[in-house]
Amino acid sequence: MTAREGSLEAPTRHPLDWKNPEFYDESKALAEMERVFDICHGCRRCVSLCNAFPTLFDLVDASESLEVDGVDKKDYWKVVDQCYLCDVCYMTKCPYVPPHPWNLDFPHLMLRAKAIQFKQGTPTKLRDTALSSTDRNGKLATIPVVVQLVNKAKENATLRQFGEKSVGVHHSAWLPDFTTKPFRSHAAASPAHAATDGQRTPGKVAVFATCFVNYNEPGIGHDLLKVLDHNQIPYSLVEKEACCGMPKLELGDLESVDALKRKNIPKLAKLARDGWAIVAPIPSCGLMFKQELPLMYPDDADVQAVKAAMFDPFEYFVARHKDGLLKTDFAQPLGKVSYHVACHLRVQNVGQKTRETLQMVPDTQVNTIERCSGHAGTWGVKKEFHETALKIGRPVFRQMAEHPGGEPDWIASDCQLAGHHITQGMQIAGKPTEGKLAHPITLLRIAYGLKE
Ligand code: SF4
Ligand code: SF4
Repeated sequence: MTAREGSLEAPTRHPLDWKNPEFYDESKALAEMERVFDICHGCRRCVSLCNAFPTLFDLVDASESLEVDGVDKKDYWKVVDQCYLCDVCYMTKCPYVPPHPWNLDFPHLMLRAKAIQFKQGTPTKLRDTALSSTDRNGKLATIPVVVQLVNKAKENATLRQFGEKSVGVHHSAWLPDFTTKPFRSHAAASPAHAATDGQRTPGKVAVFATCFVNYNEPGIGHDLLKVLDHNQIPYSLVEKEACCGMPKLELGDLESVDALKRKNIPKLAKLARDGWAIVAPIPSCGLMFKQELPLMYPDDADVQAVKAAMFDPFEYFVARHKDGLLKTDFAQPLGKVSYHVACHLRVQNVGQKTRETLQMVPDTQVNTIERCSGHAGTWGVKKEFHETALKIGRPVFRQMAEHPGGEPDWIASDCQLAGHHITQGMQIAGKPTEGKLAHPITLLRIAYGLKE
């Protein structure tokens, strides 16, 4: 069969065949890795995206045959370990994705490998499972008294060294504080606005708070509610929300993803069918509902209904603006904003809606950096990956400090975890960051002149 270079058709994606026992057949997965790695070795376009591709190409270049067939299959797992499933290679680089006959899906092949690894058990399984249990960690860590102890412990150098040795969390990786006032139990009730549907947007918003906003940075959630209220959009919180499942997916723990899906989807599907827009302020959680769950459950009508109703907040605001229903009565300029597009937003293919929105604010210059920060969820805090995470992010740290207008007034990323990783990298490079990190939703609240 001849195959042309690249594909002229729009990329599609095949469902994840995760219920098929063959999905977990190690020898079949290794054979598929050999096929895909061979195509990648001949292409090498993705060499600068992450550390998975350099790891693969170094293995090939060090082999006797200088080809993939010379690489010991045991070493394939080194490539798998370096992939944090950002999806950027699939969505932005690879010309061989379906419908191209080579049918290449590098991230989902890595996910399959991770699922096999997870079933077999790895030496770090305990640590990885604990880190990815964001909902459970949040519930435990926000218990009064415990929360103060947890927050203090993360600042203690001796305990951090101990934590690195015992549980494998890098001693200098940024870790979030836990709040004493979780967002969901402290959110203001929605004022009684009438819902005004637009052509592109439902006029009422259900907020999927996310574990990070609920337990770590509730201010982002409160700011979102203030912006909705300012725009006279009635809102509600999703009832009994559980983790979206992305941290479990990144680990290859698909059974836990399934359990979380069964908790969330019935409630979200009801909201979708009742005409609510569902907004998740963390891109990874939005991506889970927009892409990963629909690919895991292609025939599940509830999952597909949720997919159709799910919005990134700025995707919603821009669509609302196009509907003529977003206020632009901005009271405060933002000045120089260094803005990082999170990978999990980039791969949603909705365009740069955050930049578009912030640029509506007068006297605001948004400098956009569209490159991986290296944080990658829980991956970047693990002791074996943290240094690599800083290395991957170095170009982003530099660009975020170099706003064309001079020193930035604000540092912002749609992914607040990436934002913290970026400020950590900037601090290591001696760049000022004090008081500059703010989530784009917080910037929008400030621009409207709304009080904290
Ligand atoms: S999904 Fe992201 S981390 Fe994984 S190989 Fe592709 S670019 Fe690298
Ligand atoms: S994933 Fe695609 S674009 Fe990237 S190196 Fe492999 S073949 Fe090339």
